[in-house]
Amino acid sequence: MSPESISELPALWSHEPHNHLRFEPGDKVSEIDAEATPGFTGSKQDAPALQAERNERFAGLQEMLYANSRSGDHRSVLLVLQGMDTAGKGGIVKHVVGAGNPQGIQYRSFGKPTPEELAHHYLWRINKALPAAGHIGVFDRSHYEDVLIVRVHNLVPPDVWGARYDEINAFERELVDTGTTIVKVAMFVSLEEQKKRLAERLDRPDKYWKYNPADIDERLKWPLYQEAYQAMLDKTSTEYAPWYIVPCNRKWYSRLAVLELMIEALKGLDLQWPPAGFDVEAEKQRLKDA
Ligand code: AMP
Ligand code: MG
Repeated sequence: MSPESISELPALWSHEPHNHLRFEPGDKVSEIDAEATPGFTGSKQDAPALQAERNERFAGLQEMLYANSRSGDHRSVLLVLQGMDTAGKGGIVKHVVGAGNPQGIQYRSFGKPTPEELAHHYLWRINKALPAAGHIGVFDRSHYEDVLIVRVHNLVPPDVWGARYDEINAFERELVDTGTTIVKVAMFVSLEEQKKRLAERLDRPDKYWKYNPADIDERLKWPLYQEAYQAMLDKTSTEYAPWYIVPCNRKWYSRLAVLELMIEALKGLDLQWPPAGFDVEAEKQRLKDA
C-alpha cells in the first residue's frame, strides 16, 4: 500500500492529538493523569495494527521530506523529547522514529555536559546537533535540561537559568523562521509507574544498562521537577513551538500519540514528490536505446 492510500484521518482518535494534547495556559502539571489515554477511542489490543499502519504513513512523509531536500528544500523537523527517567523516550526513538529511514534521521541524546561543552554557552552543543535540510532531528533530552536539572540542582544561579526561558524562545523562533518545524513532547510517567519501571531495570540483566543510581536521586526531587516542568511549560509553550503533554504510563498510547504528532507536523509541510529535473520521456527513449 502506498502511503497516500492510507486514510488521512487518524483512525480510533476522537480528537486530533495535535489539538487535544497541546499545552494550554493554565494547565497544571500536578493534574496530569499519566495513566490516561486522551483522545484515543481504541484499546491496547488495537495498538499494534494501528501503530504499523501509521508508522508506514510516517515513513512515507519522511521520505518525501528527504526527497525534497535533494532539490533545494531546506526544511527540517525537530522532535524534542523531555521526560523523567523511564518515561519512555528511548521507546519513542525505537518504535516511532525507528519506522523512518535512518538516512534522514539525526538522533542525538543530551546527557551531563562534557568539560568541553560546559566551557561553551549551553546552546552550543544544541546548535551543532540541529537537523540538516530534509532531516528529522530527534533530541533525547535537550536544551530544556538547562532549565530542568540545572534549576533543580542549582547548577547555576537562579538569575542565570531564569534568563534562559526567553533565550530559548528566541532561539526556537529563529529556528522556526529558518525552516525547522519543532515538535516538543513532554512525557509524563507517574511516580508509582516509575518505581515499577526502575524495579524492572534492577531485576533484569538486559536492562541494567538503562539503570543509573542517580535516577533515584532525581526521583527524590520529584516535587522540584514538577515545579521546573510547570515553569518550562508556562514560559516556553509558544505559538510557533508549542509543548504537547503526553501521558506515558501506557507505552502503547504514548507511542501512538507521538506518532500522530509527527505525522501532523510533516503533513503541515504540504509536501509533494519533487518533479523530475530531467525530461522523463527523453530518458525513457535513451534507456531503451542504451
Ligand atoms: P539519560 O538520559 O538517562 O542518559 O541521563 C542523562 C542525564 O544527564 C540526566 O540525568 C539528565 O538530566 C542529565 N543532563 C542532561 N543535560 C544536562 C545538563 N545540561 N546539565 C546537567 N545534567 C544534564
Ligand atoms: Mg536514564
